Amino acid sequence: MAAVLVIGAGLNGLAAGVLLARDGHDVTVLERDPDEPEGDARQLWDHWERPGVNQFRQLHVMLGRWRSRMEQEIPEFFDELEGLGGRRRSPIEMLPAAVSGGPRQGDDELRCVIARRPVLEAALAAVAVRTRGLVVRRGTRVTGLVTGPCTAGVPCVVGVETARGELVGADLVVDAMGRCSPLQRMLCAIGARQPTEEREEQGFVHYSRQFRTLDGRPAPLPNAVTHVEGMSLVTIPGDNDTWGWSLVTAANDKDLRALRSPAVWDQVLALFPGTAESRAAGIALTDVQVLSGLEDRRRRLVVDDVPVVTGLVALGDAWACTNPTLGRGATIGLLHVAALRDVLRAVRTSDPEKLVQCFAEVTDEVVGPLYDISLHDGRHRMAEMQADILGTPYASSDPDWAVSRRFMNVAAEDPDVRRAFLRAAYLLDTPEHALAMPGVREKLETLGPGLPRYAAEGPRRAEVLAVVGESGDREAPDVSGAAPPL
Ligand SMILES: Cc1cc2nc3c(=O)[nH]c(=O)nc-3n(C[C@H](O)[C@H](O)[C@H](O)COP(=O)(O)OP(=O)(O)OC[C@H]3O[C@@H](n4cnc5c(N)ncnc54)[C@H](O)[C@@H]3O)c2cc1C
Repeated sequence: MAAVLVIGAGLNGLAAGVLLARDGHDVTVLERDPDEPEGDARQLWDHWERPGVNQFRQLHVMLGRWRSRMEQEIPEFFDELEGLGGRRRSPIEMLPAAVSGGPRQGDDELRCVIARRPVLEAALAAVAVRTRGLVVRRGTRVTGLVTGPCTAGVPCVVGVETARGELVGADLVVDAMGRCSPLQRMLCAIGARQPTEEREEQGFVHYSRQFRTLDGRPAPLPNAVTHVEGMSLVTIPGDNDTWGWSLVTAANDKDLRALRSPAVWDQVLALFPGTAESRAAGIALTDVQVLSGLEDRRRRLVVDDVPVVTGLVALGDAWACTNPTLGRGATIGLLHVAALRDVLRAVRTSDPEKLVQCFAEVTDEVVGPLYDISLHDGRHRMAEMQADILGTPYASSDPDWAVSRRFMNVAAEDPDVRRAFLRAAYLLDTPEHALAMPGVREKLETLGPGLPRYAAEGPRRAEVLAVVGESGDREAPDVSGAAPPL
């Protein structure tokens, strides 16, 4: 069994720590942020400082696939989570029977995990603390990699150096430093070749707010993404009595930068049917949080069939990060963690080159396609938003996009198609499998053509612009560049 060092105690670093320690490895997780999670959900939200995770207080939902994999891999997580007021819930059960078609067999599989990010992480950290063979050291920032003898010019990592100058040795170092992982710089410092990196600006900006109900009861809102002209509304219920909404626009959409103002944000939100009542029954926990400049980014540590480094692998967001509107990051990360655990069952750390090669292959096979499809969806959605800004319907020659748009539209109308669509959206099935479910393709053919381009109810762009125009607050500063249309 190996001595494994995981850098970063985010969702994936902690999950990796638990799974690898359970397999008998001797695991240490080093985390730069010093705070320990303490107290109940409200205290975690108010006081847990996590500057190492930019999105720590942004909306998160854990998809059905994450929930089912966690039930299989770390079931006791749910005792901790439910003790803090988190839940497992399907959006179907929140809908009126006339819309959902009533309960159906298989609906349980659509349950997602509903909790704010600090609560999710605290629940996982509580399991980690009790796991034999696992030590989590917070307040320990890794500043560099330590190498042993090179093989054929490829540096072999044998440990890390911390900000206090401490050297910590390991048979395997796992980069779980997240979206902003400084791995490139660290590799440069040890003279390694650079990994290949695909990067592209997503071009979205998220204007998010979180709330709690006045009466302390759970908010009666299903998680959902509603696309309208030039904008999307993401609805995410949280633990206990909390929930959040995010209005997602294109970063170059100057007219909508006024959404930074809570008053304008509230007025635009109210244009979406059913929101005004919930908003009136809530107290805001945050002002409008603005997040932009996000990239899709994938890193490959094996270039031209040769590892740039051995003794080290990158996991979760440190490997690849995707468009948050899809809510897939943690699910992709957990599948990646389990893949690493499985590779370590088959390949020993005493064969570091084979280990890195094998993990790269498994990564491409297991999570690579999920990255590709997320990139595809995000690019099309951005191009569609750009067309909406110009006032022209988005025309794409990509048949996959036409089908997925129709799939989403018919899902808003038909209970069976909705379930199939959610199975694909929650990564429980591939889109091909979901489309092959009984009756789905037929309904896309019969119902699809009669539906408007955006079937979900919501405001037209002209209505949004009218509200923003009235606010006299259109000249908010630039937030980022935008992705070009496809
Ligand atoms: C706005 C937004 C909303 C999102 N919403 C969702 C969602 O709804 N559902 C979903 O599944 N995903 C969502 N995601 C993605 C999700 O947050 C990430 O996929 C997930 O956090 C990745 O976990 P990780 O452990 O790989 O990295 P992180 O959670 O980023 O953790 C990295 C850790 O490494 C630590 N670290 C960094 N550098 C060092 C160092 N030098 N030494 C020691 N420690 C270090 C950091 O402090 C941090 O704790 C969202 C992302 C964003 C940006």
